[in-house]
Amino acid sequence: MKGIVRNKKEVATGTLLVSFEVIEPFTFKPGQYCFVTLINPPYPDDRGNRRHFSIVNSPNEKGTITITTRLSESGFKRGLRELKIGDQTQLGPIAGAFVLPDDTSIPLVLIAGGIGITPFMSILKFVAEERLPYQITLIYSNRDQSSTTFYDELQLLSTQLPNFQLVLTMTEDPNWTGEKRRVDTTFIKEYFPNVNAQKYMVVGPPGMVSAVQNALLEAGVTPDNINVENFTGY
Ligand SMILES: Cc1cc2nc3c(=O)[nH]c(=O)nc-3n(C[C@H](O)[C@H](O)[C@H](O)COP(=O)(O)OP(=O)(O)OC[C@H]3O[C@@H](n4cnc5c(N)ncnc54)[C@H](O)[C@@H]3O)c2cc1C
Repeated sequence: MKGIVRNKKEVATGTLLVSFEVIEPFTFKPGQYCFVTLINPPYPDDRGNRRHFSIVNSPNEKGTITITTRLSESGFKRGLRELKIGDQTQLGPIAGAFVLPDDTSIPLVLIAGGIGITPFMSILKFVAEERLPYQITLIYSNRDQSSTTFYDELQLLSTQLPNFQLVLTMTEDPNWTGEKRRVDTTFIKEYFPNVNAQKYMVVGPPGMVSAVQNALLEAGVTPDNINVENFTGY
């Protein structure tokens, strides 16, 4: 699919959102990812001109694919940063099994580290728009508030979603008066004493994902209640 750049903005420190218009018909489920290929990229990159990114927008926003990424000095990211409005990229395929379970009656615990918030933005917007009856807790861990992508949007979503609890944890922010702990076994058991009464979705850099996955297992969560997405490349 051809993706035409329609919007680009910094949404947190060193974090770029890019929106593409797609003319061809396509569908996706909230939580899925899309490959982005740069056409004739200006900088060389050992990993090539293609990366995958979770889709940030809701599928109800037709004809649009929006991604959000931490910038780096890789050739790919420098090329992405320098795209201009109207430039073309190649998008797709869209794939991934990190999606909402069909059963809306089981409470969901979404756990994101840093840029791992991206698939949850699509999921939460869709749940709000469709008024789906999921009961959702989002645990979102960052170093500090300035690096917390979509901070304002999440505050807004928490006013729109009736069964939504937002738990922000800032592990290195001296000005943050809320939760500061890492998500470990004690944390899980404290928030969810009946550990298998929920399904868990965990996403972020691989180190964070495996630490949280181990904490969940150690807390007694059964593997079939855990769905993970690893952002390899970080
Ligand atoms: C399903 C999925 C969804 C993703 N969604 C997002 C998203 O929403 N936002 C976002 O910012 N990123 C996302 N990523 C990661 C993204 O695809 C890039 O890999 C990442 O942004 C780093 O790209 P880079 O060009 O900055 O660094 P790179 O130059 O690609 O890599 C940085 C470092 O990681 C190492 N590395 C690269 N790839 C791998 C690999 N596959 N396994 C192990 N080590 C590797 C490299 O050697 C290098 O040291 C996602 C990844 C996956 C798998």
